[in-house]
Formats: sequence, C-alpha cells, structure tokens
Amino acid sequence: MSAETINSAITVLMYHAVGDERGECVGAEAPYVATSRQFDSHLALTAQAGLRVRSVADLLAAPADRTPSVAFTFDDGHGSNGPAAERIARAGGSADFFVNPSRVGKPHNLGWSDLRSMADAGMSIQSHGQEHRYLDEMNPAEVMAQLVDSKKAIEDHIGRPVTLFAPPGGRVPPGLRVVAARAGYTAICSSRAGLWHIRQNPWDVPRLAVLQSTSDGQLARWLSQDWWEIAGRRARYLALSSAHRLLGNHRYGRLRRRLLYSGA
Ligand SMILES: [Zn+2]
Repeated sequence: MSAETINSAITVLMYHAVGDERGECVGAEAPYVATSRQFDSHLALTAQAGLRVRSVADLLAAPADRTPSVAFTFDDGHGSNGPAAERIARAGGSADFFVNPSRVGKPHNLGWSDLRSMADAGMSIQSHGQEHRYLDEMNPAEVMAQLVDSKKAIEDHIGRPVTLFAPPGGRVPPGLRVVAARAGYTAICSSRAGLWHIRQNPWDVPRLAVLQSTSDGQLARWLSQDWWEIAGRRARYLALSSAHRLLGNHRYGRLRRRLLYSGA
C-alpha cells in the first residue's frame, strides 16, 4: 500500500444517541447509545491522536486539505445529538447529522429550530430518508421519493444544500448510487465497515458503528487505523451481510437484535 493510499484513508464514526453516564437515553435503543463518558473519552482520544473532528461534507468540500482528520456522523436525529453537536463545535469541529424529516420535532427527536442552530454552528444536516424505512423493501419509485422528498424538506427548513445520503439500517439496494446521483446527492454514507478512501472513492463512505459495547481501546485502534482491527470489522460485516442474504430481512433482524443486545 502506498503512503498516498494510507494518508488518504479516513476513519468515519457512526453514532446514534449519546446518553448520560449510565447510558440512559429515552427514545433510543440501548445498544446504540454511547454513554457521556464514552463520548468524552472519544473526543479526548481524537485530540490525543492529533486528529481534527470534521464532517464528511467538509472533507468532500476541501479535497486538497491534508489536515489529519476523523469524521463524526450521527444517524436518526435523536434529541441527544444537539448537546453532542455543541461539544464538537466548542472543540472547533464539525459533524454530519442524518435525519428523517418525518421524525423531526417528534418526542425525543431534534426539531427544525435545533437543526437550524446546529447548522449555524457549522454542523452538516443531511438525509436519512423521508421516513426511517428500509430501501431494500421498496420499489424504485418509492426509493427515489425517499431521496427526493427528504432532500427538499431539509433544504427548505435549513436553507443549506443536502448532498449526503445515509440509507436507514445500512440497507443499500442495487443501483442506489445512480438513483442518489439523479436526486442530486454526491456521496452515500453506509454501514459497510472499513476506512474511507476519499480520493479514490469519494462516493462510497464506509463507517464504523460506535455502540455502547465499543471499548476505548477499540476506538483508539479505529483512529490509528490498526490493520487487524479494521480487517476484523470488515470480516464481521461481511459475515453479517452473508447471514442477511441467507436468512432474509425478518429472520436476520432477529439475529441482529440478539447480537446487539448480547454486546457481540
Ligand atoms: Zn437509522
């Protein structure tokens, strides 16, 4: 692997909610809630590693910028993302927040005024679909509507362009990139595990899911892009994808929940 290839790889973290010290967080699923201690620790580890916290949108907007960076992203628009965004802004960073317009303003979720304030503080507000529905269970017209309607709703409320799409549940149907390009997006942030090779493949943004079971040591290895650690995450992702294909959506969903709640 050349030095250029290594230097251009970026670790992209995917959070959902950030809870209190015990990980309590109403309206969010426990395995996906990072505790406040974890989040503090992640920001400290990032600073220790000499990495700047950036949004994927910022990194794509400045491809020649070689500042060592890590990307922070958040899915689902939980209300706890507001204070997390404040923390990141105070540290001089930015992050992407993928929201479903149908959920904005609902109990435990961010409202449009929260999202406008976050955008004013330098955060990037992006699309997670109009509703939190799996795209691989829809017909092509419905998929297109999810991408087009959510982009328009967020742009109308926030007043800034929406260029990134994160498919709910990480479910990427065949041909999504073509549909997303037609709808005006420039990158897809998936749940595929791995590092983001921004210059070789700006469209395809793999992410590493931060869970309550993610240890500080593991997070530090993601930041240092430890080869064995990243290879292990990729192997796990490929094994789960194969299980998904074999079991189908319903049975795979049950297996996934069992694994999540057992911390596996
Ligand atoms: Zn989601």
